[in-house]
Amino acid sequence: MTESDKSVLVVFSGPSGAGKSSIIQKLNKDYPDRIGFSVSHTTRPPRPGEQNGVEYYFVSEEKFKKMIENSEFIEYANVHGNYYGTSFQAVESVLNRGRLCVLDVDVQGCRSIRRRNMKAIIIFVSPPSLSELESRLRSRQTESEADLRKRLEDAQGEMKTCEEQNLYDLVIVNDYLDRAYKEVKDYLAEYLEKRDQKVLQSL
Ligand code: GDP
Ligand code: ADP
Ligand code: 5GP
Repeated sequence: MTESDKSVLVVFSGPSGAGKSSIIQKLNKDYPDRIGFSVSHTTRPPRPGEQNGVEYYFVSEEKFKKMIENSEFIEYANVHGNYYGTSFQAVESVLNRGRLCVLDVDVQGCRSIRRRNMKAIIIFVSPPSLSELESRLRSRQTESEADLRKRLEDAQGEMKTCEEQNLYDLVIVNDYLDRAYKEVKDYLAEYLEKRDQKVLQSL
């Protein structure tokens, strides 16, 4: 098996509050030895409970811009008013441990990944409705009212990208978390099984 066969990226995208982190947490729990999360850099301040180097590397705008200058990012974007970026190092450290690399990136990041022609499965997580999205974001209690408004406003544009050709491999509606998670798990299992069969046949 070559490196490129192994190094498919599993990318989650979708509006803030759609359930990406919830799904990623479940994958991590079920496959602790097979999955690795690509820890992005961001200029947004940490939420209570978030730890530097776990959910994100929390950095200043100055440091982020230095990293852009030094071409340290595979992709980066300004999302809801803050910078977010995936470093080469973040992805490589997961792949070097021989794990499937899971990413959580916004829509612009997905387009960059496609433009770079990277081998990636991109999954869009959609809320059942915008009103349900609002109530989930409110109950998460992680944003100020202004930040929450911004995220809901941005969600409308993000939802439209579902129709963009060749951007997403799978669109799932996160109505019930366990059901939505099963859909993701079945899709990945089928993909990996087919891929491994192909590799075996080519030996
Ligand atoms: P949440 O979506 O409400 O949990 O908020 P976050 O602050 O965790 O994420 C904000 C946005 O930034 C989301 O749309 C993420 O998908 C996106 N994001 C996070 N990390 C990256 C990254 O490395 N690159 C890109 N392009 N987007 C990212
Ligand atoms: P994201 O990472 O996409 O911003 P989260 O995973 O943080 O979204 O989910 C947003 C909130 O909604 C969290 O409080 C989470 O516990 C809750 N949530 C996620 N999926 C569901 C679901 N299917 N039904 C009800 N609540 C959900
Ligand atoms: P939050 O601030 O709620 O953690 O994330 C907000 C948004 O930023 C989410 O849509 C998330 O997917 C996105 N995001 C997180 N990390 C990255 C990243 O490295 N690159 C890009 N482009 N978006 C990211």
